[in-house]
Amino acid sequence: MSQDTNKAIVIAGGGIGGLTAALGLAQKGFSVTVLERAPVLGEIGAGIQLGPNAFHAFDRLGVGDAARQMAVYVDKLRLMDAITGEDVVQINLQEPFRKRFGNPYAVVHRGDLHGVFLRACEASPRITLRTGCAVTAYEQDGSTVTVKLFSGERVKGAALIGADGLWSRVREQVVGDGLPRVTGHTTYRSVIPTEQMPEDLRWNAATLWAGPKCHIVHYPLSGWKVFNLVVTYHNDAPEPVAGKPVDEEEVLEGFRHVHPRAQDIIRHGTDWKLWVLCDRDPADRWVDGRVALLGDAAHPTLQYMAQGACMAMEDSVCLADEMDAHRGDIEAALESYRQQRVLRTARIVLMSRAVGEHIYHPAGTHAALRNAIMSAKSDDEWYDILAWLYSGPPQSGSQVASQARAES
Ligand SMILES: Cc1cc2nc3c(=O)[nH]c(=O)nc-3n(C[C@H](O)[C@H](O)[C@H](O)COP(=O)(O)OP(=O)(O)OC[C@H]3O[C@@H](n4cnc5c(N)ncnc54)[C@H](O)[C@@H]3O)c2cc1C
Repeated sequence: MSQDTNKAIVIAGGGIGGLTAALGLAQKGFSVTVLERAPVLGEIGAGIQLGPNAFHAFDRLGVGDAARQMAVYVDKLRLMDAITGEDVVQINLQEPFRKRFGNPYAVVHRGDLHGVFLRACEASPRITLRTGCAVTAYEQDGSTVTVKLFSGERVKGAALIGADGLWSRVREQVVGDGLPRVTGHTTYRSVIPTEQMPEDLRWNAATLWAGPKCHIVHYPLSGWKVFNLVVTYHNDAPEPVAGKPVDEEEVLEGFRHVHPRAQDIIRHGTDWKLWVLCDRDPADRWVDGRVALLGDAAHPTLQYMAQGACMAMEDSVCLADEMDAHRGDIEAALESYRQQRVLRTARIVLMSRAVGEHIYHPAGTHAALRNAIMSAKSDDEWYDILAWLYSGPPQSGSQVASQARAES
């Protein structure tokens, strides 16, 4: 084992990105310390959609079986017109889709998914998880990184991975591109018991009702015990907000113009919470010597491709492969990781904005054009369109070599 392998890698943040990075690095023989600001490791919010590329990553991280057990496998991606109530397109996610991409499409509860990663981290003798540790800054001297905590404590390692999310302190130092962009899109989330979901909508699909400047998403979760409801209104909200409780009347405000069937879904929601969403323009300076960004810290995105967490997991697989392939040269490993990941994640960020504008939120003729184009495509055409994403990232030579070593 090389000197770098023996030294601890420090990770700021214990979300999906931080824990999967820890798992990937530990699998390659690195010891890892995760520093999480919150007093308890966990996830806020309910559902998350996972494309087949997430399952490729689960398998590489050694948690494929556990992740598969708690997923609900939806049969379709279904687009409804929120003004007319028309069923625009249904993309089949069953056998032909799974055969094409080698893995399923699924929805999971965030807490369940985070729990799978947490248990795997806790079971690894190479991973130390610390809570109540807010990272404020770092220093480096060419062979080590010293991470500064709010408490005044300093933690030393061979490298620092900034997986500290949208408001990343590590990014402030690595990129220095100011605050995230407030997109003006307000999202309201609720979870309801399945028996409270309108009976005629209890179908096994990730469903999008798309309307002018607003949309509704729903799908079953947690073994069909509950439905996840996420509704979004592009109301030009000026300030970022996270998890503020709001009443039903406020949620309905942006949906007075949609079809009664779509409005009715909102009336079934309870305990609504509000987020004003942010993203960032893609940046390519994710690395500063022995420090690199990962997940939302590197490429925060709107949720319209349902890929933010999937990208964080792919980042982790790639980081671990590159650290393995460039043993003894951490700076080269991080730079190679950056090169592998920048364009794919920039594509997600920019496409999410475009998909929001042209699929989720258009009105009038723009919406009619969406319906005409999308309803004319066959499943196979959709699979071709989505292949760059769901087949997973192209692998570099060093990643292929690293994988072959692990499998031999
Ligand atoms: C409405 C909505 C729906 C979404 N739906 C999907 C979906 O269907 N599919 C999908 O793949 N993605 C989805 N996403 C995106 C996904 O939630 C994120 O991309 C993903 O959770 C990012 O994980 P992360 O670990 O990088 O960041 P985070 O989850 O933000 O984790 C960062 C962690 O770092 C900690 N932290 C912060 N600052 C510090 C500090 N200074 N020191 C130490 N620790 C710190 C935080 O407490 C947190 O635990 C959605 C997002 C939204 C908003």
